[in-house]
Amino acid sequence: MPTANAYAAPSATGDLTLTTIERREVGPHDVHIDIKFAGICHSDIHTVRGDWGPQQYPLAPGHEIAGIVTEVGSDVTKHKVGDRVGVGCMVNSCKECKNCLAGEEQYCLKGNVGTYGSVDRDGTITQGGYSSNVVVNEDFVVNIPEGLDLDVAAPLLCAGITTYSPLHHWGAGPGKKVAVVGLGGLGHMAVKIAHAMGAEVTVLSQSLKKMEDGLALGADHYYATSDPSTFEELGGTFDLIINTVSASLDISAYLQLLSLDGTLVNVGAPPEPLPVNAFALIGARRSFAGSAIGGIRETQEMLNFCAEHGLGAEIEVIPASKINEAYERVLASDVRYRFVIDVSTIG
Ligand code: NAP
Ligand code: ZN
Repeated sequence: MPTANAYAAPSATGDLTLTTIERREVGPHDVHIDIKFAGICHSDIHTVRGDWGPQQYPLAPGHEIAGIVTEVGSDVTKHKVGDRVGVGCMVNSCKECKNCLAGEEQYCLKGNVGTYGSVDRDGTITQGGYSSNVVVNEDFVVNIPEGLDLDVAAPLLCAGITTYSPLHHWGAGPGKKVAVVGLGGLGHMAVKIAHAMGAEVTVLSQSLKKMEDGLALGADHYYATSDPSTFEELGGTFDLIINTVSASLDISAYLQLLSLDGTLVNVGAPPEPLPVNAFALIGARRSFAGSAIGGIRETQEMLNFCAEHGLGAEIEVIPASKINEAYERVLASDVRYRFVIDVSTIG
């Protein structure tokens, strides 16, 4: 069985360390990718620490993968050796249910196969992108357009698509007031993308510490949610709110910031329930929604949109030896705005 070097968590509490994982042989429809960069998403931390349920260890996370194709299976038509490619949060789905056929593989009725910690359709447990290489079915590999460097493109595979998809679905654009809650990995991409779509963008952050950055990323306004006057001043303002916060929030207070028919889309995935006061919805025919990443077709569309608008992630590139330190900084909201692992340091 071919192998890869990887950084993996040995348990829910142990530090990630260098280890060797198995990769399957390249099958007829598989693409072998030499990984160059892998982003660190807050979901990696939720998963390895068991926030969302028990895991099988060792577990190598990483679902913001950018690299180069080094081998293709005999029946592969979508990619060739030398292509610059990306892999996001899923590596397979049933491909035949209503949602898969609609290009929404993330909502596969049989469950999509996550890039790590999932049982693949051949029965093996998937391992993620904090590793030297990966073998992925060609349908779940996207092309990274020229003009987007691989390091700044890696975070687009999750942070980019997870914010692009709801912004697109709920019609962010000229004349629309969009608020982004939380200026981290997802939040900063939401600001860039909503601005590029032509919306009027407001950041709602815990403090004003990152205000200068937020305005430079394309926000028109910036407020601190620790200041109670923010909620009085902005009542009934927004058409769309994208909540990217990784912890539980008082959702009803944020719903009050929506205008008539406005929608608050939760992309943040805290382990705890998010209780909602019915009157916060009833009072202005508001909606409380959720959204998961995006389909493969839409992921390619997002990458093309980002290339066209010159949008990459704001990143801090780190060697693999700094992964555990980076996790602590993400947990302390001390990230500007995505840690990206230089995979050449994994060996
Ligand atoms: P991140 O980089 O850590 O950003 C989260 C931001 O939320 C922080 O930078 C901080 O922004 C704010 N925040 C953190 N703790 C907070 C608290 N206790 N109260 C208020 N605000 C707080 O994380 P990320 O990688 O963007 O991921 C965000 C969430 O989205 C995670 O739960 C992740 O699992 C989830 N996610 C979901 C999907 C999906 O498909 N739906 C995909 C990817 C990730 P400020 O400092 O500006 O307040
Ligand atoms: Zn992610």
